[in-house]
Amino acid sequence: MNVIKFCSDLVRCKSVTPIDDGAIDYISEFLKNLGFETQILEFSEKGRTVRNLFAKFERGEGANLGFLGHSDVVPAGDGWDSDPFEPIIQEGFLIGRGVADMKSGISAFCCAVSKFIKEKSFNGSIRVFITGDEEVGSYQGIQSVLDWAKAKGEIPDDCLVGEPSSDKEVGDRVFLGHRGSINVQAKSVGEQLHVAFSRNNTNSLAQICGYITAMKNYEWKYEDKRFPKTNLEPTLLFTGNYAQNVIPGESSANLNIRFGADYDSDQIKSILSEKAKQFGIGLNFIVNGESYFCDNERLKSLMASAIKNAIGLTPRFSAEAGTSDGRFMIKYCNVIEFGVPVEMMHRSNEKVKIDDLRKLENIYFEFLKLYFNA
Ligand SMILES: [Zn+2]
Repeated sequence: MNVIKFCSDLVRCKSVTPIDDGAIDYISEFLKNLGFETQILEFSEKGRTVRNLFAKFERGEGANLGFLGHSDVVPAGDGWDSDPFEPIIQEGFLIGRGVADMKSGISAFCCAVSKFIKEKSFNGSIRVFITGDEEVGSYQGIQSVLDWAKAKGEIPDDCLVGEPSSDKEVGDRVFLGHRGSINVQAKSVGEQLHVAFSRNNTNSLAQICGYITAMKNYEWKYEDKRFPKTNLEPTLLFTGNYAQNVIPGESSANLNIRFGADYDSDQIKSILSEKAKQFGIGLNFIVNGESYFCDNERLKSLMASAIKNAIGLTPRFSAEAGTSDGRFMIKYCNVIEFGVPVEMMHRSNEKVKIDDLRKLENIYFEFLKLYFNA
């Protein structure tokens, strides 16, 4: 199978979370034809149903490799020069929603595995996990899939996550982990007043701005240098008040904080809460995940050799990743994350170099050969 065709076919499925629009069946059919046992795993909660795929190919008792990807994509959004779900090739790029994040990774792995199974004999098994809600929550996706896999004894020894990881060019960076992430909703309640008759400390907007500034300037400790620094970013400020002579009674803000292993989410929450008290701010937290770092020497050296053999580059290893489903897989097995450059993820006119797709397929093929010693 041609990796460009595979990726283009996937892009034509409008698989905006939690819709799968044929993407899961397409991958399932392809793997079934290679001799994989496949199973569609549907999980529902609160009126939302997510389709996921588990596929297994077994040839002996040897090592057990997993591949993890997601077939869902973020909404197209504005600013496209072509139909986001009708892929086109232009100046050496394949363009369409999801080509980078992460239909490229799925396509390259499926094509590499097809070639590997046909050309090589090996002793071991390959388990493929494709989830349908990575972009929104991962609840009925990887979290439910892993509960199922654990109960069925289908957890791999090691797992390759095909998310974008490269920096300037494919093969220059591999992710070993990422920082923890918390979404924070902050709310300040003051008093709605005519501006001419203001009183001290009752302006909800001034209070919340004070809090945001204080937290933005907070000096987070930075000892574990495997991770980028802890970083807090305000992403939304809202009062709902458009009148120039009214002090808003209520103001709210959204913040997101990324933190390395110097903190866990409880410590971050208590620092944020402590300061919030001083400013009279109420907080709500959604913990997206703790930081993780998987420093498995064997996986690192296999991936470095695979990249070197396939395209001659030596990658650097880093924990700069955004959150991925790898944070759930790491609870069960070793995880390594490698794919195309991160630059175009979630953008309009999302694109991937045709050459990079082919390189990725070759790197995954080398990785399979080295992993199974085939
Ligand atoms: Zn992704």
